[in-house]
Amino acid sequence: MTRIKHILTTGQPGETLTVKGWVRTKRAAKKFTFIEINDGSSMAGLQAIAGEDIPDYANSMARLNTGASIAITGTLAESPGKGQRVELQATAIEVFGESDGETYPLQKKRHSFEFLREIGHLRSRTNTLSAVFRVRNACATAIHQFFQQQDFLWMHTPILTASDCEGAGEMFTVTRFNLDNIPTNKEGKADYSQDFFGKPAYLTVSGQLEAEIMAMAFTNVYTFGPTFRAENSNTSRHLAEFWMVEPEMAFCDLEGNMDLAEAFLKHIFSYVLEHCADDMEFFNQRIDNTVLETAHNIINSEFARITYTEAISLLETAIEKGKKTFEYPVSWGIDMQSEHERYLAEEHFKKPVIVTDYPIGIKSFYMRLNDDNKTVAAMDVLAPGIGEIIGGSQREERLEMLERRIEEAGLNKEDYWWYLDLRRYGTVPHAGFGLGFERLVQFITGMTNIRDVIPFPRTPDNLDF
Ligand code: ATP
Ligand code: MN
Repeated sequence: MTRIKHILTTGQPGETLTVKGWVRTKRAAKKFTFIEINDGSSMAGLQAIAGEDIPDYANSMARLNTGASIAITGTLAESPGKGQRVELQATAIEVFGESDGETYPLQKKRHSFEFLREIGHLRSRTNTLSAVFRVRNACATAIHQFFQQQDFLWMHTPILTASDCEGAGEMFTVTRFNLDNIPTNKEGKADYSQDFFGKPAYLTVSGQLEAEIMAMAFTNVYTFGPTFRAENSNTSRHLAEFWMVEPEMAFCDLEGNMDLAEAFLKHIFSYVLEHCADDMEFFNQRIDNTVLETAHNIINSEFARITYTEAISLLETAIEKGKKTFEYPVSWGIDMQSEHERYLAEEHFKKPVIVTDYPIGIKSFYMRLNDDNKTVAAMDVLAPGIGEIIGGSQREERLEMLERRIEEAGLNKEDYWWYLDLRRYGTVPHAGFGLGFERLVQFITGMTNIRDVIPFPRTPDNLDF
């Protein structure tokens, strides 16, 4: 069986072959029928022509509705039609599964993304969603390729965890308790000593802390796996279950971290442009006519690099000069809102910008304290159209400082004994970052809703398929 994308690019007239896939359209002429068949390997399908001479012609054609699964055997010929190089002259057609053309939900018209989400089991057969998932696959491949070429080891960090990495809450609890009858202790609270792990367990929000463990053995590692957030934010950029990429590098400072993040994004974009050219062309035409320009901008421009303090001044100046109004107030110390991040990336720099050295008060305890005692060695990569796409930092490698930061964050030092041990035995300057994988796919494709870049989105009140 030959996949359609190869036939379309390298198939030679005269070749005999069999393709298998699903019928996209069928158009009957007098003595023959045009069938467009798609197997998901490319945006374009293969056009086949079945003449009256094929076995059981009338009956076969009657069974070929949109959505039916078929195999067509035939000979390739140069195509007189526009838009394709070759077409398939059928000699035999086999129908695997018919499709009721009346009730098949994917009719030949544009469906809204909202509607397509309701048919999550079929939407991947549409042009847009299939292009998204091919690009998603290419992104994942590019990510592994990038790290593997540089001798990073891929580490599988756990999904079940007892630690709340960010100290931020918003985690899903995992339990074997019968929720209608939870064992309680003397205080009337849930008695976790009777639960599966003997203590509260959660779905992980990040693999970073475990990645740090592995970086202290392998120098450079990365994680790439699912993470979970129980935040009830029904936005176009948040999922309850999403994939995260987290490289962690020993003997690396903030500068090295920024260099890696920039090279990383450039590699992914180049890879996708090379391997998904038709899909990217499609997004540019149909979804967002800036995606190709943006991709070239990422690949060819040097990312801007500014400190948080400089970023706040830029925002304040924009407000003073009347160039921009924001919904949320701006002053040193704020956690920048997406409107602020987007102003910097889209309007001020018109390219990705890396903001560094954030106030200690708005960042996590593990980020390395700067000498000014006010800021930490954090970095966020802000991208046009999206805002924050990467968040990272140099980690606090000094034992006493880290102990102090854990206490100040109101966390329990005992819970982090192993994390602190890494600072006791062979500690090194190290750094890493996290990339929300779906945010990346959104950014590349121009898709506005994060629910449309993951095959099966999990969001509040939504757990179908
Ligand atoms: P945001 O402010 O957008 O909620 P965050 O500060 O909570 O992001 P981090 O904790 O830094 O995000 O997580 C690392 C990366 O994971 C983010 O830069 C983002 O790309 C992605 N991310 C975070 N939360 C989600 C989510 N709920 N759904 C999808 N991606 C997410
Ligand atoms: Mn968040």
